[in-house]
Amino acid sequence: SLVFMIFPELMGNMVDTANGDSSWGLSLSELGIALLVVLVFQAVTSYFRVILFAKVSEYGIADVRKALYNKVISLPIVFFEETKVGELISRLSGDVEKLYAAFSITLAEFLRQIIILIAGVILLAINTPTLALIMLAIFPIVVVLAMVFGRYIRKLSKARQEELANSNNIVNESLMAIQSVKAFTNEWFESLRYRKSVDNSVRISMKYARGRAIFAVFIIVILFGALFFIIWRGAIMLEQGVISNGDLIAFFSYTVFIGTAIAGLGNFYTELLGAIGATERIRNILAEEPELEYLESKDSTPIDIKGDISFKGVHFHYPTRTDVEVLKGLDLSLKAGQKIALVGPSGAGKSTVMQLLQRFYSWQAGNILLDGKDIKDYPLHEYRKQMAIVPQDVILFGGTIRENILYGKPNASEEEIIAAAKNANAWDFINGFPEGLDTLVGERGVKLSGGQKQRIAIARAILKNPKILLLDEATSALDAESEKLVQEALDRLMEGRTSIIIAHRLATIVDVDCIYVIDNGVVVERGNHAELTALDGIYTQLANLQFNSI
Ligand code: ATP
Repeated sequence: SLVFMIFPELMGNMVDTANGDSSWGLSLSELGIALLVVLVFQAVTSYFRVILFAKVSEYGIADVRKALYNKVISLPIVFFEETKVGELISRLSGDVEKLYAAFSITLAEFLRQIIILIAGVILLAINTPTLALIMLAIFPIVVVLAMVFGRYIRKLSKARQEELANSNNIVNESLMAIQSVKAFTNEWFESLRYRKSVDNSVRISMKYARGRAIFAVFIIVILFGALFFIIWRGAIMLEQGVISNGDLIAFFSYTVFIGTAIAGLGNFYTELLGAIGATERIRNILAEEPELEYLESKDSTPIDIKGDISFKGVHFHYPTRTDVEVLKGLDLSLKAGQKIALVGPSGAGKSTVMQLLQRFYSWQAGNILLDGKDIKDYPLHEYRKQMAIVPQDVILFGGTIRENILYGKPNASEEEIIAAAKNANAWDFINGFPEGLDTLVGERGVKLSGGQKQRIAIARAILKNPKILLLDEATSALDAESEKLVQEALDRLMEGRTSIIIAHRLATIVDVDCIYVIDNGVVVERGNHAELTALDGIYTQLANLQFNSI
């Protein structure tokens, strides 16, 4: 930028030299060579400037992306309940993109314009002090006004960003649940919801645009008005013979440079403000507390447990719903290798028990013990390694079947994978695919049936070889053949492990060691099938409902 500032001076001098008034004592050809040297010098420095800024922005932003993802993935479940995924994705991509633009272009331009501005004002002050004084009197007022404006525009930009994230959220949610949308013929409702949100963002965007438009008016009237006034004064000075032709040309050029610099600064300033807003949001995520011991647990030593579990008087409410107590003094216990089933009406708190056991949340009162020791006293990662969950709705990652099974133990050998698949009754159907274990699943590959997905989840759990097993039985009944294969695989998986089953179909749990009937956050009945049937309580009611409806 400083080299750039030599041009007007050189040009002015050339005109004066042509008029026979050479203040530098150089001939025209010497001045031509000087011009060439300056050009080449500027070309070379520009090359390195671009490379330098690219280096800083590319590596720097890559670091920001990695740090953000690292942080997000280590945050506790509660964070994901309080933050919408659409919002999060927009933050991860949009805000980082803004930061990237700031570092790769805006910041460089901002600095360039500031250098041009300061150097221009200094050179003007030396060459034509009277005019420079007029300019300096106007300059601070313009800057202050631009800052006030900038703040207003920034607020609108933020509101616009939020509304856009909201629209994206609607698309995200409705497309994720597209089957439900269609089944309920709610396309129109969703369209309307989306339309409203988009219209709203247009409204805010237009307000934002009006802010920028007024800003443009401000620049033209105040700034260019002042500049033209100064140029007019310059012309008068030339007429009076106070300055030379060359001086006037140099003065014009500097004035135009300064004018463009100030106008550009307004834009770059608001863009930088936007980037600062993005930085704030990114920093907010980076400042979130990760799950306990996340960092230290990476190198913690493996723990050796038996698998006795007990809940003693556990009270719990979800952090997002503090007014509703979900567990109200829940007690249950099982010895290593035992199997228990949790049954009860919907919303009784069965899944919550599993969530607490996996330490997704902290409970408010009571104790949860593993081998007689509070589960909070184990290193988190090692603790979670001791258990595997076969969930109700198995969600597979969009890779190959092999990758999905390996999720249970990333370093497993080919033999181990095949053995696990066989034990899970999954090998036959996997082998039936032309690409076997390398068959892609999910959106880009084959769509697996509910029973097949479950067996892959079981193979994954077998590979993990946990001491404790959490099974959330699928509510939807599989066909008899698939059901038998899944049940066999589950029985094999549960052998020798402490298992807790959330049972929806009572027929599958008649042989567990103990059935706990949970209602409204407490255990209301416990015992085996025969004992509970004899009680003639909630269990009997549930059993009657189920067996009668079959
Ligand atoms: P179902 O058999 O229908 O799966 P459940 O017995 O497993 O039911 P839970 O999922 O444990 O029931 O839910 C118990 C209560 O906690 C319900 O009232 C539910 O609304 C509430 N709840 C569950 N998950 C959350 C959550 N993440 N945030 C707030 N409340 C929740």
